[in-house]
Order: sequence, then C-alpha cells, then structure tokens
Amino acid sequence: MLNPSEHPHRRYNPLTGEWMLVSPHRAKRPWQGQVEDTPPDTRPAHDPTCYLCPGNKRAGGNANPHYSGTFVFDNDFPALLTDTPTDEPETHPLFRIQGERGICRVLCYNPRHDLTVAEMDAADIRPIIDMWAEQTLDVGSRDFIGYVQIFENRGAMMGHSSPHPHGQLWSTSRLPREVDKELIAQRDYFAAHGVTLLADYLAEEQRRNERIVYANTYWTVLVPFWAIWPFEVLLVSNRPARSIPNLDDAERDALSDALHHLTVRYDNLFRTSFPYSMGFHQQPTDGGDYPFWHLHAHFYPPLLRSATVRKFMVGYELLGTPQRDITAEQAAARLRDLPDIHYTKA
Ligand SMILES: [Zn+2]
Ligand SMILES: [Zn+2]
Repeated sequence: MLNPSEHPHRRYNPLTGEWMLVSPHRAKRPWQGQVEDTPPDTRPAHDPTCYLCPGNKRAGGNANPHYSGTFVFDNDFPALLTDTPTDEPETHPLFRIQGERGICRVLCYNPRHDLTVAEMDAADIRPIIDMWAEQTLDVGSRDFIGYVQIFENRGAMMGHSSPHPHGQLWSTSRLPREVDKELIAQRDYFAAHGVTLLADYLAEEQRRNERIVYANTYWTVLVPFWAIWPFEVLLVSNRPARSIPNLDDAERDALSDALHHLTVRYDNLFRTSFPYSMGFHQQPTDGGDYPFWHLHAHFYPPLLRSATVRKFMVGYELLGTPQRDITAEQAAARLRDLPDIHYTKA
C-alpha cells in the first residue's frame, strides 16, 4: 500500500487542476552542484572527485567503467522507483494522491570532464543524440512506462548536481504536467486543421522571419512568440517527427549541427558558460497512436543581462502571470547576430 512518507507519488492541486510529483525517499542524494563552475581553461579533463568521470566510484558504491564514448547508468538516488504501489489511498476529492512508478537514468555525454555541449563539435554531439534515441526506446518499451522525459540542467545556477557534461532521463507511468497540456493542445489543433500545430506555427515563423535564430535543412531554432525566459528557445523538427528514435541519419546529423550553433551562440552572448535547462518533448510511450505529436526541444536559460544578472520568477510571476522586458524579437536578433565560433576558440 502507498506510504506517502516513503513512496514516490503525485498529488493533485484542486485550485489549478494540476498534479505535482513528490519523491520523499530521495533526501540522501549526493550534491556536487554547489561547487562553482570554474573557467573553461582551468577545468581538469579528469576530476578524481567527480562521480561521473570514467573509472571513478559513485556515492552509491558502484564504480564507472573506463568509458570512451557516452555512458548510461540507473540513477543511484532516483526520484522514481519501479516498484511503487500505485493505489490511491485517499478518497477525499481535495486530497488526491496516487503512487507513481518510473525509471531515472544519468546520461553521460562524454568522458571529458572539462567539455560542455557548447564546446563540442557537431561530431561529438551526434553520439549523444543516438544515446537519447536508444534510451527512449529501451525505457519506453517497458509496460509501466507511459512517458520518457530527456533533459539537461546545465550550470550551477540551474542546480546541476555535477559540472561533468551529462543529461538525465526521468520516465513515468503517467504523463508529466507540461506534456499533458501540450498533448491536449496538439491533439485539438490536429483534429481541427489536419496538420500539426507546430508545422503551421513553423511555416508562419518562416514567413515572418522575425524570431528565427538559426535553421538548417531539418531543424529550426527560434525564440518562440510566447517566450517567458529572456533568451528562451524552441528547437523544432522541420518534419513532424514524433520522437528522437524516429529521426533518420541526416536528421540526427542536422540536430547535432543545430545544437552546436545554438549552444555556441548562448556561450558567446555573455562570454560565459551559459546555464540553462533544456529537454525534448516527444510522443508518449504507452502504445497509443499520436499522429498530432511534433518533436521539439525547449531551452529555458535564466540569464538576462550578463553572466551574473539573471531573471527571477517571483512576485507577480508566481502569483499572477510570467512577465518579460525585452521582446522575443529583440532576443532573437541578439542571438542571431552573434558569431558562431565559440569565444574561447575565436
Ligand atoms: Zn567528471
Ligand atoms: Zn513542449
């Protein structure tokens, strides 16, 4: 039976109609994120104290292999567990609680401790995309997994647990809140228009050409019309692919190229290793048919005016509506006009 002080679960907020996730068992997890990021030229290629570097021992007791490419392991302190009871012990409509199952993995991008995606060539980024695809298929094929969320927290400002280049995979039985909202919008749009919402949106953005930062044959990088974070970006597949595993060879190479051009511009904006949270939204993995789903990634960076001046979501934004100062068009122009050679190499 579900024990809310021990098992991962979600709780319903009847004021907003939205669910949130609680992971009470996770308080013991290690934390190397309080270590400030050191400048690129002073970081070691291998850090003996890093629990993601090849050959090092992790906090959970396991040791990493001497990996030379990408490396995946089950999170030693996962937010979700595979064997959580899924019953709903509360019956009161204002106190809804449900056990939630899932798998959490750590996705090491590269053996080099001192690299970031922005400092990698497109050829170094391609294996990361193949890893995202493999992991989506592997975890998504489990009966109890309905959604696979791939994401990355980059930089101490975003609370990353280690400066080593890595992303994460969190998967759940039920759809996460943001994915659920986007599913409804995309489903309703497709039903009304017979084309994906993002295909129509992209066509209109291309016609207006005010917010596009970078584009290649298969991908478009733009500051969305509705962006909240100062330099928020949407990375959209030009074709309505439904998931990362659906991408063919040329589309994966082009995605590496788009990620390279975006992250280099981000670093060049304030000549700093630019912090962000990013992640992909792909179709659910519950076996349903999702012709309306259009693969994309969101980048949510907090910096506003310099390497240290950030935007906060406070006051009116927490209580009312998110607000921004510079327009999406101004932010797109700033990013578009930056050089696409990394400032440390220029
Ligand atoms: Zn490391
Ligand atoms: Zn999305």
